[in-house]
Amino acid sequence: MPLDPETRAQLVDQIRRFVDDRLIPREAEVADADAMPADIIDEMRGMGLFGLSIAEDYGGLGLDMEEEALVIFEIGRAAPAFRSIFATNVGIGSQGIAIDGTPEQKAKYLPGLASGAIIGSFALTEPEVGSDAGSVRTTARREGDHYILNGTKRFITNAPHAGLFTVMARTDPAAKGAAGVSAFAVEAGVPGLSLGKPERKMGQQGAHVCDVIFDNARVPAEALIGGVEGRGFKTAMKVLDKGRLHIAAACTGLAERIIDDMLDYAVGRRQFGRAIADFQLLQAMFADSKAEALAARALVLDAARRRDAGEDVSMAASCAKMFASEMVGRVADRNVQVHGGAGYIKDYRAEQLYRDARLFRIYEGTTQIQQTIIAKTLIAEAKARAGT
Ligand SMILES: Cc1cc2nc3c(=O)[nH]c(=O)nc-3n(C[C@H](O)[C@H](O)[C@H](O)COP(=O)(O)OP(=O)(O)OC[C@H]3O[C@@H](n4cnc5c(N)ncnc54)[C@H](O)[C@@H]3O)c2cc1C
Repeated sequence: MPLDPETRAQLVDQIRRFVDDRLIPREAEVADADAMPADIIDEMRGMGLFGLSIAEDYGGLGLDMEEEALVIFEIGRAAPAFRSIFATNVGIGSQGIAIDGTPEQKAKYLPGLASGAIIGSFALTEPEVGSDAGSVRTTARREGDHYILNGTKRFITNAPHAGLFTVMARTDPAAKGAAGVSAFAVEAGVPGLSLGKPERKMGQQGAHVCDVIFDNARVPAEALIGGVEGRGFKTAMKVLDKGRLHIAAACTGLAERIIDDMLDYAVGRRQFGRAIADFQLLQAMFADSKAEALAARALVLDAARRRDAGEDVSMAASCAKMFASEMVGRVADRNVQVHGGAGYIKDYRAEQLYRDARLFRIYEGTTQIQQTIIAKTLIAEAKARAGT
């Protein structure tokens, strides 16, 4: 059930105040310590952020995609590490179970994911398998009432904190490509599961990724998501469709925040006897940034509303993710330029946000993979029109 307009406005306003009063002032602390403060995580739990997209029946807020986007536009204004800590529970770490899980799997895991008591991670990427996600090499071999998992998952967000992993593994070694892949809900403590060292990253300090290693890990047969083998890749793609709109919303929010930073600096900084904001060469950067951020907002909201209405928005989600992630990269780069030398210095936020924004063009499908999805859909439509 969509929220009534007043409740929706209150929710968005509450998140905006939380971001301005609690998150932005602590960005430097989080980046320097490379850790998320426990009190901030507790506040996020209290506000229901971990359960934004999980149905109310399981203790979540049950937001639809448009409402989730409105919330993420606001959260996106803070350094992206803050969103990262709860975002896997909202998207890729819970939605496999929420969309395709059995009633028992939903009852067992969704309440803990919604409250933030459990951190959920999504484990698809492997050392040799990235963009070509259907070629998963991790294996899951049935042995009595268990599956035995072997393989390594790479760059898994929140893995060092996770209580539950949605793992893509090949159950049918004879089937080539995506058809032989299944999804499993794997609890962190199972024997044979271990973690690599947290990676040192370019940006988004405070958010953590590491390898997840399965060495004859014994997982109960009930962990197979949906109880059917061979559906894992379809589950992953449904999860990623929604996740791409979420990421596009985060990029849009970050761009809007960076534009504010850019203008605040430019009206205060003086050169040649006047505010640098008066120079038309910089004004072009402000105008381009604003128009592009508005375009991204419109793309996200249009696709989100159409998804809520039951339309297939795969191509629109790819368009939104591609455009918004490239757009925030350009905006973050202009912000460094507007700041001049200060843009290169750590004490100003410009250089951190520039590094933080870079990841958006890589994960949940690179820009090139979004381009291939968009082009493939367009070509299929053209062939259908031509009857070929
Ligand atoms: C910080 C971080 C967090 C992450 N979190 C997660 C997570 O939680 N779970 C998870 O499963 N994964 C996660 N990933 C992995 C991420 O999704 C992959 O890195 C990404 O999908 C790209 O895969 P790759 O790194 O193997 O690059 P590759 O697939 O090797 O790509 C390298 C380059 O080749 C290009 N390329 C590849 N194929 C094509 C093609 N067909 N056409 C044109 N160009 C192509 C790519 O666009 C890219 O430019 C994370 C990564 C990072 C860095």
